[in-house]
Amino acid sequence: MTVATRTKLLPEVEAFLSQSPFPSFVGGRDFPASSGDTIVTIDPGSGEKIAEIHDLSAVEVDRAVEVAEAAFPAWAALSQVDRSDILKKLADAVEKHKPVIAQIEALDAGKIEAQANGDVQNFVDTLRYFIDLASKVELREKIDSPGYDAWKYRQPWGACAFIFPWNFPFLLIGWGITPALAAGNTVVIKPAEDTSLSAIYLARLAKEVGVPDGVINVVTGSGAGAGAALSNNSQIKRMSFTGSPEVGRMVGEACGRNLVPVKLELGGKGAAVVFDDVDVAETAEKLVGAITFHSGQVCCDATRWFVHSNIYDEFVTECTNRMSKIRVGHPLDPTSDMGPVVNSKQCSRVLGYLDKGQAGGAECLCGGSEAKVEGYTGNYIKPSLLAGSLDNVAAQEEIFGPVAYLAKFDSEEQAIEMANDTDYGLANSVWTKDDERAARVAEAMVAGNSWINAHNVFAQGVPYGGVNKSGLGGGVLSPETLMDYYRSTSVVRPLA
Ligand code: NAD
Repeated sequence: MTVATRTKLLPEVEAFLSQSPFPSFVGGRDFPASSGDTIVTIDPGSGEKIAEIHDLSAVEVDRAVEVAEAAFPAWAALSQVDRSDILKKLADAVEKHKPVIAQIEALDAGKIEAQANGDVQNFVDTLRYFIDLASKVELREKIDSPGYDAWKYRQPWGACAFIFPWNFPFLLIGWGITPALAAGNTVVIKPAEDTSLSAIYLARLAKEVGVPDGVINVVTGSGAGAGAALSNNSQIKRMSFTGSPEVGRMVGEACGRNLVPVKLELGGKGAAVVFDDVDVAETAEKLVGAITFHSGQVCCDATRWFVHSNIYDEFVTECTNRMSKIRVGHPLDPTSDMGPVVNSKQCSRVLGYLDKGQAGGAECLCGGSEAKVEGYTGNYIKPSLLAGSLDNVAAQEEIFGPVAYLAKFDSEEQAIEMANDTDYGLANSVWTKDDERAARVAEAMVAGNSWINAHNVFAQGVPYGGVNKSGLGGGVLSPETLMDYYRSTSVVRPLA
C-alpha cells in the first residue's frame, strides 16, 4: 500500500488489516482453509495488495452449512424480544464502528469513503427496520374458512445461504441477511472474492456483541469454488444470490436440482426518460450524479438516457459540462467525486465496451477512455457519454461502469417502446413536471422499479427487485421479504 494511502487509514483499520491473511468465520471462530490457499484482495485505487483471504474448499463450505444448521434450533427458539435485543446490539455496534467499516469498504471496493459511510448506515437502518417488522409478525394467523378451525403457523426455515457481488458488499449483506436473522434463521454468507473484508469484520463484531456462535457465518473464496459449493449444497433451506445473470442462472439451476427456494437479484440496463418540460440543468445534474455514483457500478443505474428531441442538445451540453468537472481520484481522497472501478478485469470490460460501441457507430460525446490520477495507477475511467443507434452493443448490454448511452425521442409512446426494448427489467425513471404523464410512463415501463424525477431510490418498506433477466423470487427491502424467511404450515381442523 502506498504511504499516501496508509497515512489516511484509521488506526483500527490498520490494526484490522495487519491480521491478514484472513480466515473465514464460522461457528463463532476463525475458519481457515485447510489447504492454506488464499486470494489476494487489492485496493482498486492503487492496484496494490491490501490483504489475503482464505479460499475455502467445497467440503469446508459444506461444513459451514452444518454449523449454521446446528446453531439454528437455539436461535429460532429464542423469543422475538430476546432475538431482537441481540440484533439491536449488532445494529448499535455496526453504527458505532461505522467509520472503520466504511474505510475498510472504501479501500476494498474502491468506494468513495462518504458513500461507504452511507452504505454502512443503510445496513443499520435495514437491520432496525426488519427487527421492528419481525416483532409485529403474527406467527399464528387465523384463517377464516367456514366449517374449519384453521390457522397458518409461521416459523423460520433453518440455514439460509447468501452470495453477494462486489459493488455494495456491506449494504447488500444488510438487505440480504437482516430479514432472515430477524425471522430466526441462521445465515451463511459468501462475499465476492474482491470484497470480503467487511463481511469478516461484521461476523467478528457479531460475536463480540453476543450473537450466538453459528448464527452468522462467512465463507470466503472463489465463485467457482466456494460460491458453487454453497449453491450446490442440498442442506441449505433458502438461497439468495445477487450478481450477474450468467452466474445467477447457474445458481438457480443448482438450487432447482435440490428444490431449494432461490431468490435472484441480477443485473440491469435501466432507462431514464426525460421529457421536454423538465429543468434541464437540474435533471442533467441528477443523472450525471447517478451514473458517476460508485463509478456506475450500480445494477439499477440509468445507463440509457432517452431525451426529448426539443431539449436534447441543451441536455447534452449540460451533461458534458458536468461530467468533465467530475474529479476522478482515490476513494480515500476527500476531494474525489468518483473512484476507480473494482478491478483491472472490470476496467478492461468497460473500456472494451467504449471501444466496441464506437466501432459500432456510436459517437463519443464525453470521456471514452482511462482517467489518469496523479500518484496512483488504479482502475480509473473517465465518466463517458455515447450516443447513437439503439442496436449498438453499448446500448444493449450491461457495462457496469460510468458510461451512459443517449438517444432522442419525439413521443411518449416512442419513449416507452425504447425503454422496454431490453431483456432486463430492474429499474427505470421518468423525468417530467406532468404528474399524470409521469405515473402513466412509470407504470408502462417493464421493470421491478420505476422512479419519478429521481434515480436510485431505496426506501425500507418499498419492495426492490427485478423482472425478466434482472431477477426472480421476490426482491428485497419490504414486508414481503421478511415473510420469505418464514415457512408456513396450514393447520386445519374440520368442525363438523
Ligand atoms: P458475479 O455474478 O460475477 O459474482 C457474484 C457472486 O457470485 C460473487 O460472490 C462470486 O464469487 C459468485 N460466483 C461466481 N461464480 C459462481 C458460481 N459458479 N457459483 C456460485 N457463485 C459464483 O457478479 P459481480 O461481477 O460480482 O457483480 C456484478 C453483477 O451484479 C452485475 O450484473 C450487477 O448488475 C449485479 N448486481 C445486481 C444487484 C441487484 O440487486 N439486482 C445488486 C448488485 C449487483
